[in-house]
Amino acid sequence: MSDLSDLYQEVILDHNRRPRNWGALPDETGHAEGYNPLCGDRLMLHVKIDGDRLAGISFEGSGCAISKASASLMTDAVKGRTLTEALDLFDRVHDMLTTPIDQPVDESGVGKLAVLAGVREFPARVKCASLAWHTLKSAITNPHEVARTE
Ligand code: ZN
Repeated sequence: MSDLSDLYQEVILDHNRRPRNWGALPDETGHAEGYNPLCGDRLMLHVKIDGDRLAGISFEGSGCAISKASASLMTDAVKGRTLTEALDLFDRVHDMLTTPIDQPVDESGVGKLAVLAGVREFPARVKCASLAWHTLKSAITNPHEVARTE
């Protein structure tokens, strides 16, 4: 478990320092906004949907290190995938983040996103980590709504 939390710290720091897919997306087909009132994290997610595929994705916003790193990891993980695959990943990550800390997480199909499970040690920050995922779901299913973690 401490190996996982070391890896968690390392990945969060790295993605916070050098967020992937940061900035506007000039040829976006839609966007969604996310807000986590508990921490004050704000996120703007830009998507380019081509048929049933997420051809492009980027984000901007202001928030804590965990919200930013999670958005960076999320955009990396879903870019180029089909919308069905992206929503399936949302479900898997959501299940993982909401698994109680004293129970083993199901890491199947989440790949390197498994490090996000480390946030469960800090229950107040779980919503910081899930914000990007709720915003992704909203960008795919209902792009004009503001996704809220509350
Ligand atoms: Zn936060």
